[in-house]
Amino acid sequence: MRKRGKTSITLLLVTIAVIAGCSPGPEPIEYGAVKCDHCKMLIMDRKFGSELVTVKGKVYKFDAVECLAEFMLDSSVTAANTHSLWVSDFEPPHEFLIAEKAFYLQSERIKSPMGLGLSAYSSAERADEFRRKYGGKVLSFEQMLDYVRASRE
Ligand SMILES: [Zn+2]
Repeated sequence: MRKRGKTSITLLLVTIAVIAGCSPGPEPIEYGAVKCDHCKMLIMDRKFGSELVTVKGKVYKFDAVECLAEFMLDSSVTAANTHSLWVSDFEPPHEFLIAEKAFYLQSERIKSPMGLGLSAYSSAERADEFRRKYGGKVLSFEQMLDYVRASRE
């Protein structure tokens, strides 16, 4: 029991060090309690939560992949000031994936919060598996941005 307590304290200190900004990174989204920094709607669904972390460590949170994409396309934070981009894995436990390395499925049959039907996966194989189930098209990060850009025109 004592030993376990010590481990928890160590873990807590490490967590605090990370939050204190030793290096910028994603932070957990308080689902149902924070609003999307793009569309201002409450972030509700773990399958789609996304983040942009600035080089100074500020974290912008989004309810959907498309809101992260729109935020980028608006140059709300310049590329030079962007540290990293994160999207949630559509598959449980919905871990954060590095957005540029993730694969995306655009499918009308997956209802994303902002209606473009975008979901993110850890690999092309996983995305393709869901494509077989839901239909649609597997996209790279760049192709996903192009898709969102085209949807605005
Ligand atoms: Zn949004």
